[in-house]
Amino acid sequence: MKYTSQRGTRDILPDEAGIWQSIEKTVRRTFELFNYKEIRTPIFESTELFARSIGSSTDIVSKEMYTFPDRKGRSLTLRPEETAPVVRAAIEHNLILKDNILKLFYLGPMFRYERPQAGRQRQFHQAGVEAFGSVDPLLDVEVILLAEQLFDRLGLKGLEIDVNSVGCQKCRPEFTTKLKEYFKSNIGKMCEDCKQRLETNPLRILDCKEAVCQKYIEKAPSTRESLCPECRIHFEKVEEGLKQAGIKYRVNNRLVRGLDYYTRTTFEVVSRQLGAQNAVCGGGRYDTLVEALGGSSTPAIGFAIGLERLMEIIRSENRYPISEKGITLYIATLGDEARKISFDLLTKVRKAGVAADMDYAGRSLKAQMKAADRARARHTLIIGENEIKNGLYVLKDMKTASQIEISPEELINKLPAL
Ligand code: ATP
Ligand code: MG
Repeated sequence: MKYTSQRGTRDILPDEAGIWQSIEKTVRRTFELFNYKEIRTPIFESTELFARSIGSSTDIVSKEMYTFPDRKGRSLTLRPEETAPVVRAAIEHNLILKDNILKLFYLGPMFRYERPQAGRQRQFHQAGVEAFGSVDPLLDVEVILLAEQLFDRLGLKGLEIDVNSVGCQKCRPEFTTKLKEYFKSNIGKMCEDCKQRLETNPLRILDCKEAVCQKYIEKAPSTRESLCPECRIHFEKVEEGLKQAGIKYRVNNRLVRGLDYYTRTTFEVVSRQLGAQNAVCGGGRYDTLVEALGGSSTPAIGFAIGLERLMEIIRSENRYPISEKGITLYIATLGDEARKISFDLLTKVRKAGVAADMDYAGRSLKAQMKAADRARARHTLIIGENEIKNGLYVLKDMKTASQIEISPEELINKLPAL
C-alpha cells in the first residue's frame, strides 16, 4: 500500500519551505508595522460558530465545510476562514474593550471541501487582519492600505484593488428586494445555483462566475444607488481617504463577497496573473458580527490573503526568492576516532550558535564533500588520522576553495567570523 497526500492538499517540501518562511516573515513584519498583534486559534471550532457567522446559504457553509461529529457527538468543523474564530476568541477573552481599538492578525491553514483546481485547494493558507472598535472610514482606508503595502513589500506589481459598499442592515433589505425584482424575469435562463440564490440570498447572484449569468448581472441594479445616507457618506469618506493615501482603486458595484457578515465597505485585491480564481485578498467591514456572536455591539473590519495564490503570482513573475540558507560548517571525517572528535566539536560549534553538521554514514571523503555542497556549507573542516596526530585540521573555504590548517581551539575562537 502506497500512501499519498489527500486530494486538494499539498506538501510544502524543504526547498519551498524557505520561500514560505521568507514570505511569512514579510507578512508578520508588515502587520506589526501597523500595530496588529498575532492571535492563534484552534484548527477546529463548533459547527454552529461558522453556520451563524458566515451564513447558512453561503457556498462555504452549504457545501464546503469539513464537518464531523467527535466521539461525544458534538458537531465540529475545521475552520474554513478565520474571522469567526477570531471574533469568538476576542469575545471569550474580553479582548474587546470600550474606547479601545483591538487589532489582531493571524496566519495559518484553512479548510474547504471544494473541487481542487488552479488556485483552489482543500487545505490552503490565509494571512489576515481584523480591527475592532471603530466605524471611522479612515480605519477602512488603513486596512486597504495595509494590504497594498504588503503586496508592495513583496515586490508584486499589477495588482488591482476593487472597492464597494454593500450597505448596512437598514438599507440592504431594500436593495435585496430590488435585486429579486430585477432577476425574477430572467432567472429561468440563469444557472442552477442562481435559481437557488434568488430564494435564499439574492445578493450572492452578483458574485456568480457562470458565463450564462453574466449578461444579466451586468445590468443589475448597483449597490450604490440603494445605500442609505449614512452608508453613502461612509463610502465617500473611504474613497476620499483612499485618494489621499494615493491608493489606486476601482469602484466595483458588483463586489458583494461570499460571506454574509459583511456590511458597508467590501474590497478585493485581484491579479491578472491568476486565472479564473484571481482574487488574492478579500475583506470588508462586519459591523454586526460581534454582537451576533454574543459580544457587545462592536464595529469591525478585516481581510484575508490567500497565500497559495500569492505564491502563484510570485512564481509567475519569476520573483521567487531563491532560498540561500545553508549551514556555516560541515565536518568531514575519516575513521572512527575522527568521527568521535568531530561529534564533540560539532556540539561545541552548535552551542556557540553556528549552524553545522557532519556525516553519520562513514562515507568516502568525496561523498562527504558532496554532502557539504548539498548543505550549502560555507566551510568544511576535514579531520583524518594525520590531522588528529598533528592536532591541526584542514578548514576549506567552499567559495574560494582555499584551505588553511587550524587547531580546534582556533576554530572555536574563529567561529563568529566564519
Ligand atoms: P474565491 O471566490 O476566489 O474562492 P472566496 O470569496 O471564497 O474566494 P475568501 O473566503 O474571501 O475567498 O478568502 C480570502 C482569500 O483566500 C481568497 O481571495 C483566496 O485568495 C483565498 N482562498 C479562498 N479559498 C481558497 C481555496 N480553496 N484555495 C486556495 N485559496 C483560497
Ligand atoms: Mg470560494
